[in-house]
Amino acid sequence: MEKESAKENVSKNFIEQIIEKDLEEGKYEEICTRFPPEPNGYLHIGHAKSILLNYGLAKKYNGKFNLRFDDTNPTKEKTEFVDSIKADVKWLGADWEERLYFASDYFDQMYEAAVKLIKKGKAFVCDLSPEEIREYRGTLTEPGKESPYRNRSIEENLDLFERMKNGEFADGSHVLRAKIDMASPNINMRDPIIYRVAHMTHHNTGDKWCIYPMYDFAHPIEDAIEGVTHSICTLEFEDHRPLYDWVVRELEYPHPPKQIEFAKLYLTNVVTGKRYIKKLVEDGIVDGWDDPRLVSIAALRRRGFTPESIQKFVELCGVSKANSSVDYAMLEYCIREDLKMKAPRMMAVLDPVKLVIDNYPENEIEYLEVPNNMENPELGVRQVPFGRELYIEREDFMEVPVKKYRRLYPGNEVRLMNAYFVTCTSCEKDEEGNITLIHCTYDPASKGGNSPDGRKVKGTIHWVCAETAVKAQCRLYENIVDEEKGVYNKEDGSLNVNPNSLTVVDAYVEPELGKADAYDRYQFVRNGFFCGDCHDTKPGAPVFNRIVSLKSSFKLPEK
Ligand code: ATP
Ligand code: MG
Repeated sequence: MEKESAKENVSKNFIEQIIEKDLEEGKYEEICTRFPPEPNGYLHIGHAKSILLNYGLAKKYNGKFNLRFDDTNPTKEKTEFVDSIKADVKWLGADWEERLYFASDYFDQMYEAAVKLIKKGKAFVCDLSPEEIREYRGTLTEPGKESPYRNRSIEENLDLFERMKNGEFADGSHVLRAKIDMASPNINMRDPIIYRVAHMTHHNTGDKWCIYPMYDFAHPIEDAIEGVTHSICTLEFEDHRPLYDWVVRELEYPHPPKQIEFAKLYLTNVVTGKRYIKKLVEDGIVDGWDDPRLVSIAALRRRGFTPESIQKFVELCGVSKANSSVDYAMLEYCIREDLKMKAPRMMAVLDPVKLVIDNYPENEIEYLEVPNNMENPELGVRQVPFGRELYIEREDFMEVPVKKYRRLYPGNEVRLMNAYFVTCTSCEKDEEGNITLIHCTYDPASKGGNSPDGRKVKGTIHWVCAETAVKAQCRLYENIVDEEKGVYNKEDGSLNVNPNSLTVVDAYVEPELGKADAYDRYQFVRNGFFCGDCHDTKPGAPVFNRIVSLKSSFKLPEK
């Protein structure tokens, strides 16, 4: 028994351990977590980690999960982003039910909180200029200098703060500062600014306010108002925690929330970070926030990733206190695993060349019954047309085969997947030497791709019947940044964009794929997993994004 529970503890991450201790000690009756995005861009895979972590903890401990827009900064925020963030969180499977909040709805309470601090002698209005404030702040090695306005009377501070609110002062002329300790070794504690004047229109509150709270003051208040118990954020806020604790203590909240930091998720060779994604979008290097080469949630969804694959990925990443990068190949592993059994396996020829079976009857089409997924009989079967003229992949034929080549070449017999054995007899070429037509004969006794007499063929290739083929645009992707050179150029810090990040090909696909809709996912045998593009797929004219190829050298890291 004892052994068992010890083992269980080891497999719990450090946040779970903190929560369990708090619950055991009766510190909180019920936990509440939150995801607090700033609506200034689209969410990315890093945010997915935060969303699923917070939501997962709430589920696991029968607690609550809030979605809260941290919209206290009017400069960069837009309603467009509020909508996209809601859609993304929902799609990932994190259900906030009725618990949707906007930090800007608390502006009145934040103002009252600031007044409370002033009345306690814990905040003052400072008239120093931004430059002077910076200068007075000191450095990591030198203590700061107290503001000459620090010892104003409570009455004067109350009056000035009210006048800040009433719009009597210009931007940058006055700020409200917490009165803490200018000699603190932690710079965040050196009388930090908690309110500033900014004559700006806010996407939610319009022109009601011309003063706005700073993040470090606003965030703990938001958490406390909502009854959040565990406020989980990323490591760069570790040094801000003393200020977080100071705010909730001085404001005397009965059940103060606690901040817990974990390491951000970084992926190799992809651009995470809203700032950089935004730049790629604004510079027109990608076609919008959901360009499938990006790792915004919208882009991953458009590319064909499933919520389940991202959930699995986040689970495999784990939660840690140390920053590190995760291999992009692990994300690819997760989508392959998820789609392996779910996705029907179809035939599509991405680089077509024509093949004619000279001994097959002219003008005849026959239908072959093919399982939709050999490993998952539940997906049923379909009828695939076969005829005298087919398309095969250009790379599946060589006029002069290299060593160990097992596919089609003059004199060689191969299996056409699910169909027949064919033997190549000859080929035709254009003036430049490009293959234009491959001649074969087939063995009618090998129907279904089965050997009629025990003779073996070494190669199996896929094909599409020419007469019934549907044209489909396929988009093939590589990482948007150059793996060899690294994400940023050493000289000027600019992004190293991979010129081959997008390749568009006209493929021929079997008629079943002509019915593909947006977000329909398939395995194209030998070519990878593909997904109907949500913007460009039209009835009968599908456009497919390659989610991932089939092969990888990636191995799961050992536990
Ligand atoms: P970015 O760094 O991309 O600009 P951000 O932190 O500014 O993102 P917010 O909207 O403030 O974006 O983030 C909302 C939440 O998502 C925060 O709690 C933040 O800690 C978390 N988060 C952001 N990026 C990551 C990441 N790479 N890994 C894990 N969590 C993240
Ligand atoms: Mg942020």
